Amino acid sequence: MSQVKAYAAQSPTSGVAPFAIERRAPRPDDVVIEIDYCGVCHSDLHFAYNDWGITPYPIVPGHEIVGHVTAVGNAVKDFKPGDIVGVGCLVDSCRKCGSCEHGLEQYCENGWVGTYNGVDLHDGTPTFGGYSEKIVVSERFVLRMPASLDLAAAAPLLCAGITTWSPLRHFGIGKGHRIGVVGMGGLGHMGVKFACALGAEVTVFTRSASKVEEAKQQGAHHVIISSNEAEMNAAASRFDFILDTVPVPHDLNPYVNVLKRDGTLILVGLLGPVEPPLHTFPMVFGRRRIAGSLIGGLPETQEMLDFCGEHGIVCDIEMLDIRNINEAYERMQRSDVRYRFVIDLATLKG
Ligand SMILES: [Zn+2]
Ligand SMILES: [Zn+2]
Repeated sequence: MSQVKAYAAQSPTSGVAPFAIERRAPRPDDVVIEIDYCGVCHSDLHFAYNDWGITPYPIVPGHEIVGHVTAVGNAVKDFKPGDIVGVGCLVDSCRKCGSCEHGLEQYCENGWVGTYNGVDLHDGTPTFGGYSEKIVVSERFVLRMPASLDLAAAAPLLCAGITTWSPLRHFGIGKGHRIGVVGMGGLGHMGVKFACALGAEVTVFTRSASKVEEAKQQGAHHVIISSNEAEMNAAASRFDFILDTVPVPHDLNPYVNVLKRDGTLILVGLLGPVEPPLHTFPMVFGRRRIAGSLIGGLPETQEMLDFCGEHGIVCDIEMLDIRNINEAYERMQRSDVRYRFVIDLATLKG
């Protein structure tokens, strides 16, 4: 065991502040990682504030982790000290169920272990995330970071990136497809980059005319102002897929209407009831589908990272001193970040 510096929330109102945590001595299959960068995901602030009512305090958020290996357990085969590695949202799962056998650990039928807010399956200790100097993770859940990428800007690939990559790949989106992306935040801008790189024709749906230039800068071929009914009607039956990244309740009916026959609306942001209610008429009469998708498994996360290495894809980020984390949360609540904060962990160590 070793004590390391971290930042934790102690209650829904405490904010995130310095806190010391223990990291375990490496087990035979463990990789010890000194963390260099950690992206700040919306889940982090939801857990810190207990928005979902399930936070076990204290909590150390952070699941977009990039760092370098400092030690490995004696059974580790694929990593050695000095390797540049990443850790995303998962640090363990049952490893035996059908989902785990297919490398879809995010759908583990016995429940996966979150990088934070989880409980270690071996010793029952709480898992603590990337707002810390070090993390110790089984090698099955460690990813290799492409050397060609800016590592700080690559950190958010581990949650925001894979959340959009996984459904695009699952549904085979590529050349010849028209895809719409709803929402231009951390997830949406990655969805645009990936869909473009995969060869699709990409349209961004946004409520504000001020985002039109931004969307085009990200590579979108077209932009539709979703509050403009005439524009939405003109797009009826046009899209093969819609990737909807909006995390709050919003009207899905106009997006079902712009799908072609057999088109699919993929939800990756919204968790909870649909408001206003969904009208099934366009679904039944056009065999249109609504689907959900959760982050990604380890093999497809590695596939995404390798693809990003080949195509030079990273997130657009703003570097953050960890001492300013609470202000960053406030800015995220106002959508005032383009598009992801990434903590420079040198500011924790210094
Ligand atoms: Zn996340
Ligand atoms: Zn499993």
